[in-house]
Amino acid sequence: MRFTHIYVEERAFAYPLTEQILTKLPDAHVIKIRHYKDVFDRKRQDAPAQKEHQALIIAVRDGNRIFKGAPVCQSMGQKNFYYASSMMNCPFDCEYCYLKGMYPSSNMVVFVNLEGYGSDVEEKLKEGPMYVCASYDTDLLAMNPLTGHADFWKEMALTHDNLLVELRTKAAVQVTDNIPNIIYAFTVSPEDVVGRFEKFTAPVSARISAAAKAIANGAKVRLCFDPIIKIPEWKEAYERLVSECAEQIDFNKLTDVSVGTFRISADYLNKMRRAYPGSATAWYPYVIKDGVAQYEPETDKEMQEFVCALLEKHIGREKIFTWN
Ligand code: SF4
Repeated sequence: MRFTHIYVEERAFAYPLTEQILTKLPDAHVIKIRHYKDVFDRKRQDAPAQKEHQALIIAVRDGNRIFKGAPVCQSMGQKNFYYASSMMNCPFDCEYCYLKGMYPSSNMVVFVNLEGYGSDVEEKLKEGPMYVCASYDTDLLAMNPLTGHADFWKEMALTHDNLLVELRTKAAVQVTDNIPNIIYAFTVSPEDVVGRFEKFTAPVSARISAAAKAIANGAKVRLCFDPIIKIPEWKEAYERLVSECAEQIDFNKLTDVSVGTFRISADYLNKMRRAYPGSATAWYPYVIKDGVAQYEPETDKEMQEFVCALLEKHIGREKIFTWN
């Protein structure tokens, strides 16, 4: 990990996870702070510059930790769909990422009071089975060697049968377990999209091969063709991508597939445009529908249907989940 500066909330020093993280970054400069918002929510931050020298903020999360799934997220057919926010921001730097419009800072926040997340989940489980996307506002698997948050969710899944957890990633992580109620969701994009828009992520060939190995280990694996990005030769690019996946992955053994064209809340898009005036993805002339910015309806439909048709050659339609 490339963090050279770590801000630590005073009260976070009392948590063993703080010590574990600091031990793994012995050369980093540690700065004690009162509250993470004093640093993270400061006005007039240069978020693009921060991404080049990302700082880590270690904090304790008060208030809501588990949230009802947002309309732009896919529930994958699950009832009681929630997402957890145990980290804010991501070690990767995707140009299209909604986090750029959501947060005023590019620094990463890691919350260390994981037992609070555990008790929140247990409280909600009293109402019935639940599905938690644990890696929405970050990439927990990429960060796991430093923070152990993915391990925490695996432990939660192991000890709570009625909890289903999705861990989504753009890393080529080695999956060595096959916990039945953990879904490893590998996002795959054409090489052109990865090269142009998904800075610091693993090459797509490495993600596909990691997904294939995870399946061979008996793990539940989801492939996410989401977001589909409109690059000039998008049809050929997605044809190549699906072929590459099918060459290495036995689609019959996939849990399911998710497909979704790029979309972002109009409010986040406005903030993203202000912070990134040179971003091609931010400045595309999207159509705003119900507060969500998306491609023109015909293009959006064409892209989604095209990718679904490619996938239907390898997997049943009932296992393909789309956003709208
Ligand atoms: S991997 Fe996901 S969360 Fe991380 S920067 Fe890319 S889109 Fe955002």
